Amino acid sequence: MKKVPYDLIVIGSGPGGYSAAIRAGQYGLKTALVEKQPRLGGTCLLVGCIPTKALLHTADVWQRFVHSDQEGIHCENPRLDYPKVKERKDGIVNKHSNGVAMLLKRAKVERISGFARLQGNGQVEVKSESGVQTLEARNIIIATGSEARMLPGLEPDPDFILTNIEILNLTAVPKSLIVIGAGAVGVEFASIFHRFGTEVTLIEMLPRIVPVEDEDISRELERVFRKQKMRVETGARAENIRKTGQGVSLTLTTREGKQEQLEAEKLLVAVGRKPNTENIGLEHTQVALDRGFIQVNPYQQTAEPGVYAIGDVVAGTPQLAHVATMEGMVAVAHMAGKPAVPINKNRIPGCTYTEPGIGSVGLTEAQARAQGYKLKVGRFPFAGNSRATILGHHEGFIKVVSDERYGEILGVHIIGPEGFELVAEAVAAMEAEATVETMVHTIHAHPTLYEAVGEAFNAVYGLSINA
Ligand SMILES: Cc1cc2nc3c(=O)[nH]c(=O)nc-3n(C[C@H](O)[C@H](O)[C@H](O)COP(=O)(O)OP(=O)(O)OC[C@H]3O[C@@H](n4cnc5c(N)ncnc54)[C@H](O)[C@@H]3O)c2cc1C
Repeated sequence: MKKVPYDLIVIGSGPGGYSAAIRAGQYGLKTALVEKQPRLGGTCLLVGCIPTKALLHTADVWQRFVHSDQEGIHCENPRLDYPKVKERKDGIVNKHSNGVAMLLKRAKVERISGFARLQGNGQVEVKSESGVQTLEARNIIIATGSEARMLPGLEPDPDFILTNIEILNLTAVPKSLIVIGAGAVGVEFASIFHRFGTEVTLIEMLPRIVPVEDEDISRELERVFRKQKMRVETGARAENIRKTGQGVSLTLTTREGKQEQLEAEKLLVAVGRKPNTENIGLEHTQVALDRGFIQVNPYQQTAEPGVYAIGDVVAGTPQLAHVATMEGMVAVAHMAGKPAVPINKNRIPGCTYTEPGIGSVGLTEAQARAQGYKLKVGRFPFAGNSRATILGHHEGFIKVVSDERYGEILGVHIIGPEGFELVAEAVAAMEAEATVETMVHTIHAHPTLYEAVGEAFNAVYGLSINA
């Protein structure tokens, strides 16, 4: 067999790439990881999951201070020091980015800086300030991730037209913000800045916000956002977007067809993420694309022998950090000859860290009906959960979608306090193929939020106690 220097070259150090490289190191594969940016961690760690959740946490704490009177604590004139908030967020990012470097070193993964391009036949060209080198490996993982899509004719800038990158670098809370796009990224930023006191307008072209969620979840989030006094426009269009010098203006066409001129200090464009598959040398390979995303088989193999793809570049799986990581585990196990369990798309948790938070897994009610299931649906409101009341967050509910015949759990949809944490029980139950019956007999500690999960399973049979 031809001797090649590496068993594996991973391109990209996001949650997909760095986790795959570490696992490969654990399996004893000689591994190199190429990253074009000076810091490790990819979108998730540097400009995605982690910094947003750091800000969301501070927004929660801030709200506690603003409404502390409700708890019997008088807090005179609390003041938000946003530069300090940003500094804390940046500190968390840096700590974990350095942590990734340390973990890679411990797994004996060689870190190579530069921009990687596939050359075919297991070769990867890496261009950096110090020159160009060509590496060779038995296997390659493409984990180059994604970047924010822009609306036609717009360019992001640090001051007015923002993507997730620029908005995370703001040094002050804007007075007003228009968010175009109400997927997870859009609603999370809307929720952060609304709670910091920004006047937020959320514009979504589709008929509902968080459109991948169960319809009841979308409806509840929209209701609560409106109750919190956020302006939400669904089925609406934003056009003629211009910078005014002090901010941004646009023409809003509402669902009813009414036109209105809107102005705001900042505009966030959150209309989806395009895969980073251009200019990475795919033309030298047989890798097949589907609208820019890489086609893979259940073991993450592309059509080019020895080349795998994972994470946001992959066609057909949601762009989520934990999906990228698990796809990396599947790819590395497969190439290392270890047991590899392909991703089950029905068991991928989706979490949106708004207030109330969303956690969901499996089929929505509409999807399950469309697939011909006869359903039994259970629903339990957080208003009936004592822990939710103690925490002062009792909006929302848990909805269990199950198959009438065998009690198979088809989907669980949560909106409410810590919804993104609570969904873990449902994911584990589905992975273990527990039935609704099993969950009804599972003891849930009192008083906890996850008791509401138990109640929702009981509600499938009309047997919840506290609602
Ligand atoms: C604002 C925001 C919030 C988010 N919040 C969450 C969340 O809470 N939970 C969640 O699960 N997901 C969240 N996501 C999605 C999550 O960030 C992505 O799904 C995840 O980062 C994808 O991981 P990845 O490894 O595929 O790619 P990425 O994280 O995008 O990493 C790709 C890496 O490859 C590098 N790279 C690209 N091309 C090359 C090249 N040619 N040569 C060398 N290096 C290259 C890039 O520099 C980058 O470091 C969020 C995304 C955003 C934008």
